[in-house]
Amino acid sequence: MEAAGATAGATATATATADGSSKPRRSSSRQCSICNERKAALKRPKTLEQICRECFYVVFEEEIHKAIVDSHLFRPGERVAIGASGGKDSTVLAYVLSHLNRRHNYGLDLFLLSVDEGITGYRDDSLETVKRNEVQYGLPLKIVSYKDLYGWTMDEIVKAIGMKNNCTFCGVFRRQALDRGAALMKADKIVTGHNADDIAETVILNILRGDIARLSRCTLITTGEDGPIPRCKPFKYTYEKEIVSRMLISKSWTTFLQNAFTLLMHIVDLLVNS
Ligand SMILES: [Zn+2]
Repeated sequence: MEAAGATAGATATATATADGSSKPRRSSSRQCSICNERKAALKRPKTLEQICRECFYVVFEEEIHKAIVDSHLFRPGERVAIGASGGKDSTVLAYVLSHLNRRHNYGLDLFLLSVDEGITGYRDDSLETVKRNEVQYGLPLKIVSYKDLYGWTMDEIVKAIGMKNNCTFCGVFRRQALDRGAALMKADKIVTGHNADDIAETVILNILRGDIARLSRCTLITTGEDGPIPRCKPFKYTYEKEIVSRMLISKSWTTFLQNAFTLLMHIVDLLVNS
């Protein structure tokens, strides 16, 4: 737990204010407030610390490790499916989890699990990203398609029912597809890249809907423990901004830009066809 110690060390440098409270000291020299050796490269939104790239890597990964250990997320020998969409969250999750699994000897049998909805031109680029992750992180990849699981691609569904209401089909199919793919691959658990911002959004949505049952469940780090395959969120305490930073200041930035471009093209496509 070197990072926890490092974070505690940084907190100890906080200065006392007149009312007795303390706040993080802002280094005028822009030195990293953890190692005090290198130049600060970013300001953490969570703690307002100015830290260097190397220290950010350490605290980012060790906070996720702490969340995994504190909540007893996994047991040695478990087979874990990483829900991989090719987006920033699941790409960083695949990297961090494979890295922590090796560093801390979790003893997990990890693999990437992707869903191909069968929408012409939509998944092609993101599946290419997942295939690159397979090679980069040395994780086996299983792609399950709507066609294989349900006998229909989304293109065929849209042809049959039109543009209206097809999101309902896609949403339900997609949720089931991850479960079915994981069951097919004999996984014990599914992990997804849902982060603290996603969970905050879900909390607000459930309050607005008055859905008390979901409100109590949506903040859990593991859900579906009474079902066949539980789902876990190792990024429960991780801010989206830091996931983006982890992506941008690593070699994965090209992947991030490719994903952003794909998303933009998809939005343009939707606007043109609506
Ligand atoms: Zn540092």
